[in-house]
Amino acid sequence: MRTAVSDLTLLEPRSLKHALALLRDEGPLTPVAGCTDLYVSLNFGTLSATRYLNLWSLDELRRIERRGHILSIGALATYTELIESSVVRRRLPALVAAAKTIGGPQIQNRGTLGGNIANGSPAGDSLPVLVACDAVVVLRSAVGTRRVSVTSFYTGYRQTVMRPDELIVAVEMPQVKGRQWFRKVGTRAAQAISKVVMAGVRSERPRLAVGSVGPTVIRAWNTEAALAGGASLVEAQRVLDSEIAPIDDLRSTADYRRRVSANLLARFWEETS
Ligand SMILES: Cc1cc2nc3c(=O)[nH]c(=O)nc-3n(C[C@H](O)[C@H](O)[C@H](O)COP(=O)(O)OP(=O)(O)OC[C@H]3O[C@@H](n4cnc5c(N)ncnc54)[C@H](O)[C@@H]3O)c2cc1C
Repeated sequence: MRTAVSDLTLLEPRSLKHALALLRDEGPLTPVAGCTDLYVSLNFGTLSATRYLNLWSLDELRRIERRGHILSIGALATYTELIESSVVRRRLPALVAAAKTIGGPQIQNRGTLGGNIANGSPAGDSLPVLVACDAVVVLRSAVGTRRVSVTSFYTGYRQTVMRPDELIVAVEMPQVKGRQWFRKVGTRAAQAISKVVMAGVRSERPRLAVGSVGPTVIRAWNTEAALAGGASLVEAQRVLDSEIAPIDDLRSTADYRRRVSANLLARFWEETS
């Protein structure tokens, strides 16, 4: 049964400062961005929180801007905005490739990068790109700002280091040297949750991240080291197999995910050589 909306409260902050004050003084509040994940829970009747904070009108969280070598992407940037941004297309083609595979146009118009990060699904399609590109998550509360590497952001299945009084305000992307690569394997081309999703950067020190093969998105540190050390593809595939921990679920089996991960690693290596 759907969650009854009559029991829910939605607070409408006037600014980011106001939103952070509400989180501090009126919490606990659940932030709402594009609501594409939250609506699914609403529809399934599993939405447990009753008090919400609507971020959608906070345009200051929507900016995509360069600051020196850093590209700062506001948490409210939608997939459509990422796809259409010339600076994102130029600097982060893998993120654009990921954004294009997320949902369909309706979801791309509403779904936000911050929502994908905060939702913390190991199948979140933007996450391997952020991990492979060494993104930094910018968290802000009424008392200050802190920056957390995306590789340290997740502590377990849908668990993060974010505190209840904090919001993700932006993601900072350093300049990525090397060729970026992204591939998602799902049941069909659109509106499919990933069975396996992988992103890589091919450089002297290759970088690799995989989603849907463990409780959180995985940075394949050992596979990277093997590739950097000149290991054969077969050897690197063996190392990758030891780094991932896929499970059987309704979308796929662990065995299939292991085979697809090995195949994607081969594709990454061949297509970026
Ligand atoms: C039909 C459909 C298809 C989909 N397809 C895909 C897909 O292919 N790939 C994929 O990865 N995802 C997919 N999704 C999931 C979803 O669209 C994405 O995860 C999206 O990025 C969520 O963003 P949002 O702004 O809608 O988040 P919301 O639903 O608004 O929020 C999601 C969670 O993040 C929290 N949150 C949001 N913004 C912030 C913030 N700034 N600070 C702190 N917490 C915050 C919320 O409290 C909530 O817990 C799909 C969803 C649907 C309904």
